[in-house]
Amino acid sequence: MDARSAKALSKDDWAKMAGDADSIFEGRCFINGEYVDAADGGKIEVINPATNEACGTCAAGNEKDIDKAVAAAKESFKAKTWRKMAPRKRMGIMMKFADLLQANTAELALMDSMNMGKPISDCLNVDVPASAVNIRFMAECIDKMYGKVANTHEKALNLSVREPYGVVGLISPWNYPLLMGVWKIAPALAAGNSIVLKPDEHSPHSCIKMAELFVEAGGPPGVFNVVTGHGEEAGQSLALHQDVSKIGFTGSTEVGKLLLQYAGQSNMKKVSLETGGKSPMIYFADLPDMELAVSTAYDSIYANMGEVCNAGSRIYVERAIYADFVDQFIAEGQGAYTPGDPLDPETNMGPLMSAQAQKRVLGFIESGKNEGAKLKFGGNIPTGLESGCFVEPTMFADVNNDMTIGREEIFGPVASIIPFDSEEEAIEMANDTIYGLCASVWTSNVSRAHNMAKAIESGMVYVNCYDVGDMTFEFGGYKQSGNTKDSCFESVLGYTQSKSIWYNLG
Ligand code: NAD
Repeated sequence: MDARSAKALSKDDWAKMAGDADSIFEGRCFINGEYVDAADGGKIEVINPATNEACGTCAAGNEKDIDKAVAAAKESFKAKTWRKMAPRKRMGIMMKFADLLQANTAELALMDSMNMGKPISDCLNVDVPASAVNIRFMAECIDKMYGKVANTHEKALNLSVREPYGVVGLISPWNYPLLMGVWKIAPALAAGNSIVLKPDEHSPHSCIKMAELFVEAGGPPGVFNVVTGHGEEAGQSLALHQDVSKIGFTGSTEVGKLLLQYAGQSNMKKVSLETGGKSPMIYFADLPDMELAVSTAYDSIYANMGEVCNAGSRIYVERAIYADFVDQFIAEGQGAYTPGDPLDPETNMGPLMSAQAQKRVLGFIESGKNEGAKLKFGGNIPTGLESGCFVEPTMFADVNNDMTIGREEIFGPVASIIPFDSEEEAIEMANDTIYGLCASVWTSNVSRAHNMAKAIESGMVYVNCYDVGDMTFEFGGYKQSGNTKDSCFESVLGYTQSKSIWYNLG
């Protein structure tokens, strides 16, 4: 069902569709253009965190399934079915793939919502359309990746050409199952690679469906394969595989470090990483618009239940406006997000992705209280929603950088507000972290804005706004937040390697 029809569905319509999830959610691996069970027949139950009931299964793939999928990808790369297809034809297939994604909006939205608790309205308004935009952009890049001709010896020709890697392994997370899958698969395919995607085992269904849609759009079998399974089994086997030339990963910093080790233990495959964050939002007293500043602060930490890599999880406010800012945050932020049934189109906050994630976030809230931060609102499981993995939107004031909640990636709806007294102190505190994904600076002083943007050690800085932009914005972090750029032209180039060719013309 397409986006227009999906947006007209009521809560009851979605509930009815959810009742048919068994027949809509395909959980097998997709290898060489076909659905197949895991080699050993294992299955993983996928739990809907809104109810703590199963909403389907996925194959528990292991080394054998990865071997099979990598072999199919290798064969398709060798046969050049995709990489040597005329660029305009490949582009056409990817455009059709994006169209099919949108034609299946309701099904994909239902999968993501039931797999990880995302409000259905977010799936419809953000995840599915943004995924289609990304695929179309990457398709347009196919015939725009130029090589170079060097200005060298008169009797020589020195070319640098860009080529795909071959078989690329992609490992994606659960927080935006479809969209983060697309951020990996679209540039990897546009660059001409054959791929094996290992989605997160909590949220596999939309990624599996994508592989089917790619083939339906005309993509040759074997080019886009999906193996589901646990990270330590399917994921590790993919990352250790000798025939995989590159791994593209989005997920935790902890697993990102393991992938670098696996590359060293195997074939020195290239590893591109998009990992965790603890992003600072820095508000100076001369900020241009207090209302926008405050609403952006709570949106940046409560949207998607705070399960966002670039969530604005450290909110630094200059002392002169600190009390006002905290008061306004309480007045407006407390009621802005109301946990509820994610399949109700009115709901803007769902559950956390699992009982384990809920326990972890509640543990961080306890640590905040114990370490002296001032709990201003939230902190509990919402009344009436005890059967799911919900946590109230929560806000702490008077946090500092030494507290656990000021340091660790909570990955939940927990805002931490921290006062500061000078530009230097703000820079020092913002940079006092292992992460460096994103930051934002709020001020009317252009020089200060620019100085701050340069001084902050992070891959992305927004001035007087946050988490906006389009496909021209290069998404990626510094430090332990990663080593690559996604969702932009640079990301397609990241799935190519350059070859130097020197001709003797003497
Ligand atoms: P995770 O690292 O636990 O899992 C991510 C993927 O890695 C999953 O597919 C998982 O099965 C797999 N995996 C786990 N262990 C593995 C292993 N030993 N070998 C190979 N694969 C393994 O991350 P998550 O909890 O799914 O996602 C949340 C994290 O992702 C957060 O830290 C968040 O900040 C980060 N994230 C970053 C970005 C970004 O662009 N920087 C975007 C979204 C999420």
